[in-house]
Amino acid sequence: MKTQSSEYYIKEIQRLKKEKNAIILAHFYQTGDIQDIADFVGDSLALSQKAASNSADIILFAGVKFMAETAKILAPKKKVLLPDVNAGCSLADSCKSEDFEKFIDNNPGRTVVSYINTNAEIKALSDIICTSSNAVQIVESLPADEKIIFAPDRNLGNFVLNKTGRDIVIWNGTCHVHEEFSLEAILKLKKDYPDAKIIVHPECELPVRMVADFIGSTSALLQYTKKDKGEKYIVATEVGIIHQMKKENPGKTYFPAPPRDSTCGCSECNFMKLITIEKIYNSLVNEKPEIILDNDLLYKAQKPIARMMDISEKLGL
Ligand code: SF4
Repeated sequence: MKTQSSEYYIKEIQRLKKEKNAIILAHFYQTGDIQDIADFVGDSLALSQKAASNSADIILFAGVKFMAETAKILAPKKKVLLPDVNAGCSLADSCKSEDFEKFIDNNPGRTVVSYINTNAEIKALSDIICTSSNAVQIVESLPADEKIIFAPDRNLGNFVLNKTGRDIVIWNGTCHVHEEFSLEAILKLKKDYPDAKIIVHPECELPVRMVADFIGSTSALLQYTKKDKGEKYIVATEVGIIHQMKKENPGKTYFPAPPRDSTCGCSECNFMKLITIEKIYNSLVNEKPEIILDNDLLYKAQKPIARMMDISEKLGL
């Protein structure tokens, strides 16, 4: 197929969205051009809320597979498209259902709280889902003596454990992007720009979290840079969020936190970056690849997500 200019694809995407009553939901970690053509840009919690409440017939998800699956679980009657089926997630892949079932069996009597960055099978094995925006509040909403399993991210799990002091057993998974930030390189940057604030996603390792001025989900980091009086930020999460930060506050300066290997481009999620404008166009034209989930799996995965959304709504999150 002949490749066209990005202007052509953008124009055609706008036309196809109207013609097919489709919306594009994009994660903050997408490239700037994709964020700019999306109908809604957000983190996992906001995107789930949007997927559950819109009048489109088609949701095209500019993100990774677990996010598109979540949209399908929340809007089962809609057609959900993911422009590249290889857009996976190293964190979700670190937790396979057969291993997780054994983990649950080995830790009986615990409520299973799973991060949204899991595939549908793990969600179906969980009692309640959380995102990085609401993980602490979700755990705190449970009775104080409730014993908990947290999966799959060990760094977010430890962050929640330290914040809540709850009895939590944590699955040993990580995100290859958030794990790669170099404490030394961050401190060097801080030395060069002493007035820059270090803002960190809770999926980062403890030493990086320990030097943070602020820790929060991508949405929380964005809000922080909007409200904070500072002018410079060292941002320890996937670099895509900086596009929104610059849009919201063009006068401020944002430094991507450097990874350990300065040549690897590791602060970009290679899975997120598989989605391109051209693939979005092709996906809208052909209405595939489509997310299809077994009904039983979909129903089982729906319950713990619905529980999270109820609690989030009650807490005004
Ligand atoms: S940044 Fe990490 S957690 Fe997010 S999609 Fe990429 S691999 Fe998964």
